[in-house]
Amino acid sequence: EKILNSITRPKKKLFIIVNPFSGRKKGGKIADKLSKILVEAGISNKLVKTTHGGHAEEIAKTESFTGYDALVTVSGDGLVNEVINGLRQREKDDAPPVAPIPAGSGNGLVAFLVLKVAGKHSCLSKAIHALVLASESDSDSHRIDLMKVVFNGSSRFSFLAIATGLIADIDINSERLRFLGGELRNLIYGVAYILRKRSYSIQLSVEDKESEAGFISLVVAVCPMLDERVTFFPEIKSEPGMYLHQMHSSVTRAQLIKLWDLAEDGGKHVEVFPELANTSATSIRIKCAKKQLFTIDGEPFYSEEVLITEFKNALKIFY
Ligand code: ADP
Ligand code: MG
Repeated sequence: EKILNSITRPKKKLFIIVNPFSGRKKGGKIADKLSKILVEAGISNKLVKTTHGGHAEEIAKTESFTGYDALVTVSGDGLVNEVINGLRQREKDDAPPVAPIPAGSGNGLVAFLVLKVAGKHSCLSKAIHALVLASESDSDSHRIDLMKVVFNGSSRFSFLAIATGLIADIDINSERLRFLGGELRNLIYGVAYILRKRSYSIQLSVEDKESEAGFISLVVAVCPMLDERVTFFPEIKSEPGMYLHQMHSSVTRAQLIKLWDLAEDGGKHVEVFPELANTSATSIRIKCAKKQLFTIDGEPFYSEEVLITEFKNALKIFY
């Protein structure tokens, strides 16, 4: 009877959105292959390739996903950010759960989600495995935390991180080396920007407690990994929620190099440098001397002031 049940149980149907330009422009190929694998496994799906930035947000906002059990993204974190913001703008409260498949230069969300999948396989194969399993089972989706981010008079949602200073500068300025892949481009720009060690004058409020200081880097996150290699917020693995990483100008270049190494070693920097441990917070305001570069889930924006608030259990995840 068990076998009969598993054969006759209706399999789930997936809506796939792919960014063909993500990573080293391999998104399209990965999605085509994924779609074929799913069909062979008896899981029907519809595949849509984005034609421009903003396209995925429009689809997530307006498409009727009736009959589909999940919205799969084949991309980096940037397209996932578009999708979650589109879903939050839907007229009805009928957003499908999201199932991200990694194909980008940065895939922090997937790295977090597949932590529970055992084995030494790549994030990509773990995510596909988890997606197929979820499509064949009756198990419910689970929820993860988001952040609400207010800047320049409008608000956006984030599932990964808001950064300014060192991390944002490396992330965005290394974009011109996209063809090298995420790891190498971050290494080259990382070394250059650590040597430069620029300090930003910032007024920081954490739960309304103000401090003014020179900062090399500020990151606010709800995801422990900033990409597949870097665990910046190991605390989130055991205690989910929003956290603040702050690096004052007193940090030395030697410490910065060491920190990078330890963050790539599962996030050991918070043990080695207790002063760099992350702070749990529900509301953070960052006020800069003038407009400066920020990133939201790896996408750039410029602002003088940013307000970030924790938004618990706000996003349904399919696998
Ligand atoms: P990566 O991690 O490689 O940067 P992302 O998925 O994060 O990949 O996407 C990077 C950017 O590409 C995002 O700003 C996204 O909005 C944009 N984008 C999405 N679809 C397209 C497209 N068809 N053409 C150009 N840019 C796109
Ligand atoms: Mg990106």
